[in-house]
Amino acid sequence: MTETLVKVDLTKSAYENENVHNRWHPDIPMIAWVKPGDDFKLECYDWTGGQIKNDDSAEDIRDVDLSQVHFLSGPVGVKGAEPGDLLVVDILDIGVFEEQQWGFNGVFAKQNGGGFLTEHFPEARKSIWDFEGLFAKSRHIPGVRFAGLIHPGLIGCLPSRQLLGEWNTREKALFDTDPERVPGLANMPYAPTAHMGRLQGDAAKQAAAEGARTVPPREHGGNCDIKDLSRGCRIFFPVYVDGAGLSMGDLHFSQGDGEITFCGAIEMPGWAHLRVDLIKGGMAKYGIKNPIFQPSPIKPTYNDYLIFEGISVDEQGKQHYLDVHIAYRQACLNAIEYLKKFGYTGAQAYSILGTAPVEGKVSGVVDVPNACATLFLPTEIFDFDIKPNANGPIQAVQGSELPIAFWNK
Ligand code: ZN
Repeated sequence: MTETLVKVDLTKSAYENENVHNRWHPDIPMIAWVKPGDDFKLECYDWTGGQIKNDDSAEDIRDVDLSQVHFLSGPVGVKGAEPGDLLVVDILDIGVFEEQQWGFNGVFAKQNGGGFLTEHFPEARKSIWDFEGLFAKSRHIPGVRFAGLIHPGLIGCLPSRQLLGEWNTREKALFDTDPERVPGLANMPYAPTAHMGRLQGDAAKQAAAEGARTVPPREHGGNCDIKDLSRGCRIFFPVYVDGAGLSMGDLHFSQGDGEITFCGAIEMPGWAHLRVDLIKGGMAKYGIKNPIFQPSPIKPTYNDYLIFEGISVDEQGKQHYLDVHIAYRQACLNAIEYLKKFGYTGAQAYSILGTAPVEGKVSGVVDVPNACATLFLPTEIFDFDIKPNANGPIQAVQGSELPIAFWNK
């Protein structure tokens, strides 16, 4: 019987659980030790630790305390792992809890988190997604249903002291270029809401003051939000500390490439069944700085797409030089305008792009001055025909405003 190394009680605060943490720091003690070749299970909170409720108001999204995220299960120590090794992680399986067959998608308010299209959608919105086995659908977004590709948004190993220092130094330098910006350019260490796992006393206080926030992806992987990092994948992580210290969380039932609404996937608590192994000295052997992975043999088969193009010319018509960020934003905005013609509100369309198995690609980065990004929208997830034809779009859905919360209400 496979041992569950971390159990979570969704009725209790994640702060009461000593087997989770919400900062990266080399001093966070291992919650258990396993051997290369061992398999084990980890249960995970949703990334906010249960702050978001299954209801029809977005006030919890508006008021979410983002300094608490992400609650990660671990770190798990692997015997024999040393800096310079590669930790091989097989995601053998991953799933939802019997007691919570739903997840949430949020559009963060510009004043609290923002998102990829925050200038266009500055207010908080929420959609609740119900799970039916493999599938998800939402009472807040009619006409769409799709198979989930469950994955951890966040997984990686503990940083070394030196690497942690590099992260904090370079992110502070960026933050300081515009410290008043809303949303912020980076999230600096913040002790008051830090949860340092089993670390106690002055050591915990010290680590909380310098522990890296879990928001960005970094060299160790971390919050990469790669929708294809799903069950059946094998991932190769750089190791920076003795024992490696593997942690994970931020489970997603499904997500579109880019996780564009920021609370962007269908977020949920759940469990993962993992197996670990080691490649000694693997970082140098293979020239690896960031993780690499092999895909799962299982994936939902959506083969028919409408593909939206975007170029690096912004909403004001200004020309940018090969800017993929702007090009992908235009592809997303083009898809949203298109979906509105079938009755969706802009926010509903935005949430579909954040949650459904949408593919985003960097298509061209050399044809000056325009980068070209593409967004692949699967047509089969809709229960009506979304392809263009001579008769024009049908009013397929009665779009209604998503649960919404204004700041000045
Ligand atoms: Zn997430």
